[in-house]
Amino acid sequence: MKEFELIKHFFTKQAVKRKDVELGIGDDCAVLAPIENQNIVVTTDTLVAGVHFPHQTDAKAIGHKAVAVNLSDIAAMGAKPSWLSLAITLPEIDEAWITSFCEGVFELCDFYNVELIGGDTTQGPLSITITAQGITPQNSYLKRSGAKAGDWLYVTGELGDAALALQHITGKVDIEVQAFNFIRSKLDYPKPRVLAGQMLREYASSAIDLSDGLVADLGHICQASNVGANLVLDALPLSTIMRDNLLNEDAIKLALSGGDDYELLFTVSEDNKVGMETAMSHAGTPVTCIGQLNASHTITTTLNNKPISINTEGFEHFTD
Ligand code: ADP
Ligand code: MG
Repeated sequence: MKEFELIKHFFTKQAVKRKDVELGIGDDCAVLAPIENQNIVVTTDTLVAGVHFPHQTDAKAIGHKAVAVNLSDIAAMGAKPSWLSLAITLPEIDEAWITSFCEGVFELCDFYNVELIGGDTTQGPLSITITAQGITPQNSYLKRSGAKAGDWLYVTGELGDAALALQHITGKVDIEVQAFNFIRSKLDYPKPRVLAGQMLREYASSAIDLSDGLVADLGHICQASNVGANLVLDALPLSTIMRDNLLNEDAIKLALSGGDDYELLFTVSEDNKVGMETAMSHAGTPVTCIGQLNASHTITTTLNNKPISINTEGFEHFTD
């Protein structure tokens, strides 16, 4: 199978065909119809084998994750994902592998009505770069800047499970097989918070998705918004598997600095707190208040109402 046949066979077979795609795969460029009174948000993320995922990862999981990490960025802007391009570098043409990879890509795309509109296919060490676009009503997207001292800090879902799965894979902790399979699905098949992100447009003052770890990503919000924050460590949402397998302090460290959560971290003013919590509860998205912003320009942490300093800098970054 040659490059062109490969593209035709694997990448043009998507069920989703959007009306705003005037030309999809097959020409020199894709052509999109302009949309009035909307903003288009654009993001790119690359996954490299052995760097962003272990070499033995299933092809379907790699396809899923490559799309999910991009949709997570779109979600953090409060946008609705719409189009995708896929640049893939493959060591060889392994049809079973590509079939399974495409299953992962298209399952998530089809669920969110996202159309694959183009890409590039080359030979070399396995690497996947996806560019995704999304749509928001004009000037209503969420940014990292916009948080104010006094705003409350919230996070969706639970923290650290993906990093815990990676610790098991790299032999640092030993987790019983059923529990491991559950958290491995959080590492391999992260679910981007696409609907929650769109709902947050109405309530949040700033937002970011958690890819590098809570402290690092909170640092981005603080810097962009020119504020500081206190994190209440007792409040961090930890799964039962995390609590069962790690001592409290280790679990907190992993929640603070383990990457790959793909949850949303966002800030809400006192006035919007109740409205946001009601909306999230209707959407079935769990959210936890984990602290508050202040005018200090530093990030502090408390445990049992007492200041405590946690060294996250010396902590290994699993996804780097
Ligand atoms: P060009 O030589 O103009 O770069 P290519 O031969 O690379 O064109 O690609 C042919 C068509 O197939 C283009 O429309 C391109 O966007 C699309 N394409 C190539 N690789 C992929 C891919 N991995 N996924 C989706 N579309 C692809
Ligand atoms: Mg090309």
